[in-house]
Amino acid sequence: MVQCLGWVGRQCEHWSCEAYWRRRAEGLAAKEAEERKAMHFDEYQQRALKTAQYPDVYNNLVYPAMGLAGEAGEYCDKVKKMWRNKGVMDSSKVTLEERVEMIKELGDILWYIAASAKELDVDLSTVAFENLNKLESRRARGVIKSSGDNR
Ligand SMILES: [Mg+2]
Repeated sequence: MVQCLGWVGRQCEHWSCEAYWRRRAEGLAAKEAEERKAMHFDEYQQRALKTAQYPDVYNNLVYPAMGLAGEAGEYCDKVKKMWRNKGVMDSSKVTLEERVEMIKELGDILWYIAASAKELDVDLSTVAFENLNKLESRRARGVIKSSGDNR
C-alpha cells in the first residue's frame, strides 16, 4: 500500500494513495481532476524551473538533455522489469504501486522536457502546440506511418 502523503507544500500527492484511485473510480475526485486539468504547460514550466539547480542554468543544453535521457531510461527500465518478471505488457495488469512509480518517472521526464525547452528559449506550450501541428499535418497528408523527421 502506498502511503498518502497529502499536501506537501503546493504539490499534491493524493494521486499516489489508493484512496485517490478509489475516489477517482467512484467519480469523487472530479474536483481534483479539474484542478489538474487547469495546470497549463507554461505554468508547469515556470513552477518546475524554480527548482532547477544545475550548472549554468538557462545556458546549458547538456544537463537537461542528459537528464531527459536518464529519466526516460528509468521509465523504460520499470516497464522492462514488469515485462521480464511478470510478463506484463498490458497496463490493466500494473499494480497501484507500480503505476505510482511510473507516473513519478513520467513527471521527471516532463521536468527535463520543460528545462530543455527553457534552454532553447521556448515555452512548453509552444513545444506542445507545434508537436500537435506537425502530427495533425502528417495525419491530414496520410504520412504518419512514414519515416523521416520532416515529412
Ligand atoms: Mg526518476
